[in-house]
Amino acid sequence: MADKSCKLLEGKKASDFVASMDTFIFDCDGVLWNEGGPLNGAVEVLQELRKLGKRIFFVTNNSSKSRAAYLKKFEKFGIEASEEEIYCTSYAVAYYLKEILKFDKKVFTIGTTGMVEELDALNIPHTGSGPDQSSGGYNMQEWTSFTLDPEVGAVVCGFDEHFSFHKLIKAASYLAKESCLFIATNCDDRFPFSSNDIVVPGTGCLVISVETAARRKAEVMGKPERVIFDCMNSRHTIDPSKTCMIGDRLDTDILFGNNCGLKSVLVLTGISSLADVKNLETSGKADDENSIPDFLYAQYRSTTIT
Ligand code: PLP
Ligand code: CA
Repeated sequence: MADKSCKLLEGKKASDFVASMDTFIFDCDGVLWNEGGPLNGAVEVLQELRKLGKRIFFVTNNSSKSRAAYLKKFEKFGIEASEEEIYCTSYAVAYYLKEILKFDKKVFTIGTTGMVEELDALNIPHTGSGPDQSSGGYNMQEWTSFTLDPEVGAVVCGFDEHFSFHKLIKAASYLAKESCLFIATNCDDRFPFSSNDIVVPGTGCLVISVETAARRKAEVMGKPERVIFDCMNSRHTIDPSKTCMIGDRLDTDILFGNNCGLKSVLVLTGISSLADVKNLETSGKADDENSIPDFLYAQYRSTTIT
C-alpha cells in the first residue's frame, strides 16, 4: 500500500484548492480535446480560472505542430490562448537549444513541419526534414553514399511520418560523434487514439530506434521529464508550490507534475482511469507512488462537443 493516496476534489475543497494556486498547467490531448473535438467543460473551466486571474499554460508532448498551428487549433475549438502560454515539445526543443544551451550549430532533424517552423522561428539552422530521397531498395551503396554535414552539432528526434531507415542511418552516424547532442521530444509509446484494431506507434518508437542504433540515450524534453518545465520556468518564473498540473495520463502528466513539485490533478477524460489510480495505490512498488495524483477531479466532463 502506497503512503500517498489520491483525494477527490469537489465542493469547498475544490474552491479552496483553486484559491491556493496561482498557475494552472493543462495537458492538451485528453484534457482539452480528443480526436472527436473539444471536450465539454474545458472552455468553461478555463474561462473560470481566467476570471479568477489565474495564470494558464498548455503543455503537450505532441511535437508534430508548432505553437502557431496550435493557436489555430485553440481558436477553432473556441479556447482562449496566446502563443506565450503554449509549450509543445517542438517549441521546447528549439527554446532549449537556443536559450538554455546557447547552441550555435546545425540540427539534423527527425520531425515534421511543426518542428521545422519552431527551429526556423529561433533561427536554428537544420537539415534532414521531409521525405528522404532514397529509392527504398536494399542498397548498401545508396545507404552509405552521403556526406556528413560538419556543421551538424545535434540530432533532434520527434514525431516524423517520413521516418525511414535512411534517416536512422544518418542520425546514428551524426551521433557517433560524442560531441553531437541527442535530444528527443517525447517518448509516448502510442498515439492516444486508435481506429478499430489499429495501433498507431508514438514518437517513443522512433526515439528507441535511434537510441539503439546510436548506442546512446536521448535527453527527453517532454512529460514526464522536467526539462520543458525548466524551460517554462526560465521564461516565466513559476512557483511550483502554487502551480497545478492537470492531465489525463498518470505516466506522463501526473508523473511530470509530481517530478516538478507541482500539485497534480487527474481528470478522467482521456487515457487513465480510476482503476489505474487504485492499482498504483495498492501495487506496493515505491516507483509507482510518483505517478499517484494529489487529486482526482471527477466532475470534469468527458463528453466531446459535436
Ligand atoms: N504525440 C503525438 C504525435 C500526438 O499526436 C499526441 C496527441 O495527440 C501526443 C503525443 C500526446 O499529447 P498530449 O501530451 O497533449 O496528451
Ligand atoms: Ca494527454
